[in-house]
Amino acid sequence: MPDYALPYQDDLGFTNILMSGLGGDGANMAAKLLFKIAVEKLNLDGGYDAKYGSEKTGTPTDVSIRLCPLGTPVRESGPTRRPHMLSVFRDKLIASQGLNRGLQASTTVMVNTSRSPAEIRELLKLHSGRILTLDATRIALETKSRMNMPMLAILCAQLGFPAEVVKAAIAAQWPRAQAANLAAFDQAVGQATSATFEPDAAYPLVEPTTITSPIGFANMLNGGAIDALTHLNIPAPDAEPLGRVPVFTLELCSHCGLCLVPCPEPGAIVWNDKKMVAINPVYCKGCMQCVEICPTTKRGKALVEPELAVV
Ligand code: SF4
Ligand code: SF4
Repeated sequence: MPDYALPYQDDLGFTNILMSGLGGDGANMAAKLLFKIAVEKLNLDGGYDAKYGSEKTGTPTDVSIRLCPLGTPVRESGPTRRPHMLSVFRDKLIASQGLNRGLQASTTVMVNTSRSPAEIRELLKLHSGRILTLDATRIALETKSRMNMPMLAILCAQLGFPAEVVKAAIAAQWPRAQAANLAAFDQAVGQATSATFEPDAAYPLVEPTTITSPIGFANMLNGGAIDALTHLNIPAPDAEPLGRVPVFTLELCSHCGLCLVPCPEPGAIVWNDKKMVAINPVYCKGCMQCVEICPTTKRGKALVEPELAVV
């Protein structure tokens, strides 16, 4: 078991981490692996809380991890209200989700963005701390991985988790995708840009607030499902594609319906009047299972993987 000490400790002995993304970004999968590594490999304990699930695809979601040395009393598993570390999968969530609420002094913030740390500081109105930015979406596209891998890599590096321990855990967790995931991991650590900000009178520490949800039994759909588009709390046109969304060519589609079979996300494949008409990027999580099953005919293939965007 490697020697390891947590980078922050609150009054109860915990380092509090908040990960914020959209459903389908893989924040929960990354957080679960991080928690597993902490407990199984680094002799830590803690609490875990996540709002996630296929019904949340495309809507803001978060994962809260509280880590402590083994032997520390763990009295609650609910979400942290005072993060020491914040991992943001989409910079649009910073304002809409009020992600500066409850951030402690000298916090560490990691953001998937093409903006600079100074720009993110302005957006977040950060009191003080370190900001790391990286284009995790681009890294995921280049390595054919998912954006949660670069984000996990940068969080583990900031926590001081030994890289070899994390990489071994990633390889064991997703053996078939290990080459892509480890390539994304390595790129992330080398490509992050960071800056440290001293306390600024313009940006005071912001107290956590209790969020009351507009969703309840009175406006739920039959069966208790939540309509993600109705309750999306960032405007739907602003919800970006979740990274890798297949390219669909209507003229090449035979409307065979095969792509519906493996698709895990209700609403991702839009079907109208017995015809497939589009991929909805708000719901699609970019797993490419539809691309795999879509038949190639003499005319071509209706669903293909996206080309890497030219920047
Ligand atoms: S599998 Fe391909 S051809 Fe068949 S409906 Fe889907 S997109 Fe169209
Ligand atoms: S199967 Fe295709 S449409 Fe469905 S989530 Fe995966 S990539 Fe998106």
